[in-house]
Amino acid sequence: MAKIKKDRKGRENQGRVHMVEELGHGSHRGKGKATELVSRLREAYPDAQCSLYHTNPVQLLVSTILSAQCTDERVNQVTPVLFRRYPDAFSLGQADIAELEGLVRSTGFFRNKARNIRAACKLIADKHKGKVPANMDDLLTLPGVARKTANVVLGTAFGISSGVVVDTHVARVSQRLELTKNSQPEKIEGALMALIPQEEWIFFGHALILHGRRVCTARNPRCPACALNDLCPYPRKQMRS
Ligand code: SF4
Repeated sequence: MAKIKKDRKGRENQGRVHMVEELGHGSHRGKGKATELVSRLREAYPDAQCSLYHTNPVQLLVSTILSAQCTDERVNQVTPVLFRRYPDAFSLGQADIAELEGLVRSTGFFRNKARNIRAACKLIADKHKGKVPANMDDLLTLPGVARKTANVVLGTAFGISSGVVVDTHVARVSQRLELTKNSQPEKIEGALMALIPQEEWIFFGHALILHGRRVCTARNPRCPACALNDLCPYPRKQMRS
């Protein structure tokens, strides 16, 4: 269970609720900014979607596990070979661990990833008849699967709007836009869920990932060319510092 922290005035901070109040996310101003952000992102990235190669939910789950601390491009180089050798949850759940490690080695953290992929697929084969469960609770029981991976799978494979995908790009862009002051992924996600309409959660995550890759990059954000510039406090803060 989440630990309840107290702030300086002794009030309980239960994460999402406190964060929403702190940033005024329930206000008309917060909602208005969110609506405008979504509309600008729709214009800039009309086709935003998951860029991981996959042909079914099992493959998407495996690709997403592999994408931790790795680029999608690198994962997409590895997975076609991996899925030819091990095409489904049954074969992946029985995979030779040394061979699996070798196949995913270039994505980094390969021992952990191979172990998690095999264990998750074994559970899917044994408990879910080889099909990825289409709900958050069951997904979170799979080794190597936290909310980010579960949101990717539910949103992209099943069209279920369960939350907002928060990766390193979404975290950075959300902070620069001052949609959140938090740095923990689950708290960032809570803030975004409070702000963005649920029907936009899937698109919003994918669009912010693209924006973080193409424009709002970690080292040199291209603020003058950014479609969100007038909604974003970051450039003005940089000028003052
Ligand atoms: S204005 Fe700059 S910091 Fe703000 S979202 Fe755009 S690129 Fe990122």
